[in-house]
Amino acid sequence: MNIILLGPPGAGKGTQAARLQAARGMIQMSTGDMLREARASGSPIGLKVKAVMDAGELVSDAIVTALIGERLDATGDRGVIFDGFPRTKHQAEALDMLLGERGRSLDHVIELEVDEDELVRRITGRFSCARCGSGYHDAFRPTKVAGVCDACGSTEFTRRPDDNEQTVRTRMAEYRAKTAPILPYYRERGLVRPVDGMASIEVVAAEIDAVLDGTVV
Ligand SMILES: [Zn+2]
Repeated sequence: MNIILLGPPGAGKGTQAARLQAARGMIQMSTGDMLREARASGSPIGLKVKAVMDAGELVSDAIVTALIGERLDATGDRGVIFDGFPRTKHQAEALDMLLGERGRSLDHVIELEVDEDELVRRITGRFSCARCGSGYHDAFRPTKVAGVCDACGSTEFTRRPDDNEQTVRTRMAEYRAKTAPILPYYRERGLVRPVDGMASIEVVAAEIDAVLDGTVV
């Protein structure tokens, strides 16, 4: 089983990928991680990656596909979760070829769908106790007494600077720009499975399981 997992920041993609790895022995191939590891490894391909990244340039499709090919050869028969790749139709075609050469294919493109306004509400409402770190939310999990931490009684709270509306909307726009080129490619092949990314972690997990187990059409 080889899948692509798509989802904007805040949709729980990392959580679901971690669960699939633990529960199903799948391997996540994150392009960002792969490039960092290759760069640190000092292998011939890693030295190329280092040179390109040090020059502030984008690593070419040829290098990325070579790295993914190496990884695929090392996975045996374990399923793969592709993360951060492909980003373009050309890369999607390259991935089909890489898998095909190994007698494998892409089974599903799971798209965690979110409601952007709701996502903004969820993320911008988060805050935590500055002393003990207990997490709260303006709307969903307020402190029992306004301005006082339930756990330790502290009255100091912090909010992460990234948890603001502008940052969330910018990340959503970046996500759309990254996925827009490949979704039509996979829709044409009937591989895209939308999953409600706003549901609870357990419900999202169950929906993904149903896709992977073939119990939904
Ligand atoms: Zn506290």
